[in-house]
Amino acid sequence: MSPTRRHGPEVHRANRSGWLRAAVLGANDGIVSTASLIVGVAGSGAGYGTVRTAGIAAVAAGALSMAAGEYVSVSAQRDAERADLRRERTELRDHPASELAELAEIWRGRGLDAGLAQTVAEQLTEADALGAHARDELGLVDGARPAPVQAAATSALAFAAGALFPLIAFLLGPRDGRSAVVVVLATLALAASGAAAGALGGAPRTRAAVRVAAGGLAAMLLTMAIGEAAGAALG
Ligand SMILES: [Zn+2]
Repeated sequence: MSPTRRHGPEVHRANRSGWLRAAVLGANDGIVSTASLIVGVAGSGAGYGTVRTAGIAAVAAGALSMAAGEYVSVSAQRDAERADLRRERTELRDHPASELAELAEIWRGRGLDAGLAQTVAEQLTEADALGAHARDELGLVDGARPAPVQAAATSALAFAAGALFPLIAFLLGPRDGRSAVVVVLATLALAASGAAAGALGGAPRTRAAVRVAAGGLAAMLLTMAIGEAAGAALG
């Protein structure tokens, strides 16, 4: 939070916009990887039809790989949280006194004096012991975690939405300048989505836009150079 900002009920955008931010980052991935692949294959000297097929395959492969990766990662996270909660439930049942002391210690660590921490721990335990330990000890926030299938679908759609930009730019671009059109449009799209991600995260927009666009541009130009070298070396 900026110290110059007047204090008030400030908006914590980092939490609220988590989903949207993940979607924007997925779209960035789609733009960079598909544009890079297209200009890399085109740089090798491949014909229009080959690059078009490679571009379509890149959209499908990227979206599906994002979906699979997200499904695995969110599932693993959820399983780990469930295991933590199971362990916590057992501890609360078998060792309620030491669990109460543990909770009081956490609140002392947050700055409460011993007596108040003890009172807070007792009242939280009485109201919802497992919920209190989940929040204060494990750091789990209820409802913050998306379901694996939802997360997978969101990532795949976001990637595909971003990836369609460079693919369409290639398909509709002028005969002799398709790669240039792909690079320019992809860079502009990255700058826009970088600015959007920055705004969602409450970060400076221009810096975010430049960073995302420059990173993507470097990836595209490097892949194009590698494609040209591979085309020259391998034919
Ligand atoms: Zn505990």
